[in-house]
Amino acid sequence: MKIAKIDLYQVDLPYSGGTYLLSGGREFTSFDASIVCITTDDGTEGWGESTPFGSTYIASHATGARAGIAEIAPHLLGRDPRQLDRINDAMDQVLLGHNHAKSAIDLACWDVFGKSVGLPVCELLGGSTNIPMPTISSIYAGDPDDMRKRVADHRAMGYRGHSVKIGALDSEGGPALDAERITAALADRKPGEYFIVDANGGMLPETALRMLNMLPPRLDFVLEAPCATWRETLSLRQHCSVPIIMDELAQQDSDIAQILAQDIADGIGLKISKAGGLTHGRRHRDISRAAGLTMSVQDTVGSTIAFAAIAHLGATVPEQYLRCILDCRDMVTLQTAEFDAPVRDGGVLVPNAPGLGINVNRETLGNPVGHWSL
Ligand SMILES: [Mg+2]
Repeated sequence: MKIAKIDLYQVDLPYSGGTYLLSGGREFTSFDASIVCITTDDGTEGWGESTPFGSTYIASHATGARAGIAEIAPHLLGRDPRQLDRINDAMDQVLLGHNHAKSAIDLACWDVFGKSVGLPVCELLGGSTNIPMPTISSIYAGDPDDMRKRVADHRAMGYRGHSVKIGALDSEGGPALDAERITAALADRKPGEYFIVDANGGMLPETALRMLNMLPPRLDFVLEAPCATWRETLSLRQHCSVPIIMDELAQQDSDIAQILAQDIADGIGLKISKAGGLTHGRRHRDISRAAGLTMSVQDTVGSTIAFAAIAHLGATVPEQYLRCILDCRDMVTLQTAEFDAPVRDGGVLVPNAPGLGINVNRETLGNPVGHWSL
């Protein structure tokens, strides 16, 4: 089997909640998706998506993803898409880094692989646990009472995890406002719920410690990406007892190794496009499991194609390690595909269909913005 054709599409995904507010004054109303279709010499199609969270979340942006795909695509024609590690080696040989560009191609190859053998991708990644996966909401930073209401709204929709965004600048209210936000968001906590308090790297050790000191006792949450650098995170880690979860800083394989070497965290946010696709995501899953790190399987954002990949990887993480998956379909108003994995009682099961198990809505994609063929 050979890659005969690669098509690249660009799609705008409006944010479903109006304006998404993140630490440091960052705002998002829409996300720019790059979608790849790989067609093999026997006509099999595989799909992948990479949708960065704007251009200031990590060092990735949508036009960069598409430029990276254009750099890589000609070098993959004629290769067997089922040799995922070799495909990733080939991508690394023509472009250093740029995980977000490689991710869409990697996903499309996994989709082809699954279709070629008639198995869901999760079976190729080690096998589904068949345990309904709890989903996590994404509660953007705002007024504390409004955040409490949005947590309640998501609870009513069946979400059992909540990612509560914080990281107020001093001019916005600083650590005192963030302490109020956490207290409000957790005020109605139900048994079994999991709360991530996510600063997206927006705090310093000093502001994080002041915020933690202002909280009432016995609040049950983990603190994700409190600081923007390894040094700051390690310093905070040594001065607080709240479990630390790595996210933005954990991108490359070597970052996962560094988490272990420094014992800097208790879990990771495993985001597929941040890692460069399912091939690296699988590796991060295995290293994390070996080290006893909990995982939430997510992506930066994205439509149904990205969610399908999240669900397949999440389905392979044993219950003890899996905290939640992100149903990014909920975050955007445009759905690029059908994926029969409904949320029931807060849990998602992956459909038993070959590959990623998606049917792409081609009318949402428009015409290709890039095309490469043998
Ligand atoms: Mg995060």
